Parts: sequence; C-alpha cells; structure tokens
Amino acid sequence: FGPPLLKRVMMPVTSGDASQPHPFRVMQWNILAQALGTHRDNFILCPREALEWPFRGFRILEEILQRSPDILCLQEVDHYKFLEKSLSYLGYKGSFFPKPDSPCIYIEGNNGPDGCAIFFREDKFSLIEGSSRIIEVWKVQTNQVIILKILKHRESGKELCIATTHLKAKQGALLASLRNEEGLDILQFIKNKANGRPVIIAGDFNADPREPVHNTMLSDRLGLASAYAANTAEEPRYTTWKVRADAESKTTLDYVFYTKDHMDVLRYLDVATEDAVGENRLPGLHYPSDHLSLVCDFAFKPMWLSAK
Ligand code: NDP
Ligand code: CA
Repeated sequence: FGPPLLKRVMMPVTSGDASQPHPFRVMQWNILAQALGTHRDNFILCPREALEWPFRGFRILEEILQRSPDILCLQEVDHYKFLEKSLSYLGYKGSFFPKPDSPCIYIEGNNGPDGCAIFFREDKFSLIEGSSRIIEVWKVQTNQVIILKILKHRESGKELCIATTHLKAKQGALLASLRNEEGLDILQFIKNKANGRPVIIAGDFNADPREPVHNTMLSDRLGLASAYAANTAEEPRYTTWKVRADAESKTTLDYVFYTKDHMDVLRYLDVATEDAVGENRLPGLHYPSDHLSLVCDFAFKPMWLSAK
C-alpha cells in the first residue's frame, strides 16, 4: 500500500537520562486538510494519486500508528470522523474544534471545516477537563483556534495541561505581529487553565524561529522550552518543505513547547534527511502531508514526581 513512509530516526537527548520512569510520547502534526491539499495548495510536484483521500487517509493513520503516540495534537483536520473512528479502535479518545470560518468550507465537495484535534490513549491518561477557544487579538475573535486538555497520567498520578493550535498563515510583518498577538492570547488562556500544572503546547505556529512569537513563547513566565532544540539549542532546519506553483517553501513552522522545570525531553524524532524527502519534496507517495510530524518522549522530572 504505497512505498515505505519517510524514514526518520529517534534521537536521544544528550543531556537527558533516558531511563527516567513513566515516559510518555507526544506527537504534533499538521496533517494537511484534504480540501486545501487538493484545491488550494497546488503542490505541483506531487502526484495526484498521493492526494486522493482513500490513499492519503490511510497513510496518515499509518504514520500515526508507526509513531504510536500517547497524546496526538493535530491541525488541518477536515476528516475528524474518520480519525476518531479509526483511533477509537486503538484505545484513543479524541476531540475536535473547528476554525470558525475555515477556508475548507468554500471548496466544492469539501468535508466540512478544518480545525485542531487532540487524541490521547485512555490506558495512559484520564481526562480531567477539556476546553477550547477562538483566539482573540485586540479583543476581536480571529479565525484561529486552540484546544486544550487537562489530563491525569495514570502511572504517575501527575496532571498535565496539553494544548494545540494553528496560528494565522502567510508571510509579512503585519501577519508576524498578528501571530505574536495570537501567541500572547494563547499563553494567557493556557496559564489560566493550567494553574501551575506542567504544560505542553504543540502546534503549527506558521512562524519561523526568527519571528517574534517564537521568542514570546520562550520568554513567558510559564518557563517554556522547545523540545526540538533540546540537543543543539536550535530549531530543526525545516518542518515543512513544499513546492507550490509560485514558490518553494522550506521552513520551520511547527513546535512542541514544554515547561522545562516540570519535564525532560528524552528523545525526539529527527526531521527527515534531504535525500529522504526527495526532489519532489512534500507531500508525495512517501509522505501524506507537507508538514513533518514531530514526536517527542517526555518524562516528569524526578523532583516533580516526588512533589505532593
Ligand atoms: P490562513 O491564512 O491561516 O490560512 C488557511 C490555510 O491556508 C492554512 O491551513 C494554511 O496552511 C494554508 N495556506 C497557507 N499558505 C498557503 C498558500 N500559499 N496556498 C494555499 N494554502 C495556503 O487562513 P484563515 O484561517 O485566517 O482564513 C482566511 C483565509 O481563508 C483567507 O486567506 C482566504 O483566502 C480564505 N477564505 C476564502 C474564502 C472564499 O474562498 N470565499 C472565504 C473565507 C476565507 P499552513 O498553515 O500549512 O501554511
Ligand atoms: Ca496547510
């Protein structure tokens, strides 16, 4: 059923203690909305058959199952029912929050609005509380959303606040400053809900590491660090790489931020090599999205585990 999926390796975090107890795995992925991928993006080097839903839907599932996350944060989900049904057989519980005016719904033959979703494995975590928000900028609702869960880690009894978002897309100084405002809004929302618990916020921030929102996330008093910068103190060279009719885009837009006083990153799934991505870039028969999944193994710090 298609060629092997893009080969990637799990990298140990050099400063970490990989034997820490009770690790859990988080996966972050913009899966590419079906309506946008087939009608808006115009990925000129991608074979048409790679984008057909019966093929692509199962390739998305294949990538998820191969990585086997305990918590899964997704963006551009416009086939939530398919994922919910498939993943529920495998022990996951999920929820979905659509964008208020998703560009998908204006496309003929669409499958509904796209939005963000979180799934978690019920044998690993139990749900304490879930909420979602339409992100506000200057007190006005945007077209972007965040979805958040407070989960209890069954093995350790520790609670965790996990959130996912998809910030406003496209280039330009004005949009970069809008994304920064969106970042400030989600930080406020998360702080209110997390109430001192460990936090993981994963998403497609649509901002490269030089944009203000990246620093806004890292400098907030929540004490966030970026999981993919754990080894080198730098973000990966790319998390998305595609060729549209107008331009090639190879950039880092996706992040997993976590509260560094509460947790350590033990391992992370390295981005694919340039050879593995190949000349046609992403998506393709070898990978179902233009964004790479990010996968990290976390453990609560021993100090936090022993704290009451
Ligand atoms: P965003 O600007 O955040 O982008 C929406 C989606 O478009 C994202 O999923 C993004 O993917 C993708 N995208 C980014 N760049 C491109 C590109 N060059 N080509 C194709 N897709 C791209 O949109 P909003 O959610 O704020 O919604 C507003 C947008 O929706 C407007 O830009 C408008 O074009 C469209 N819209 C159209 C309507 C219509 O056709 N009548 C009505 C309402 C809205 P990623 O995150 O991966 O970059
Ligand atoms: Ca997209």
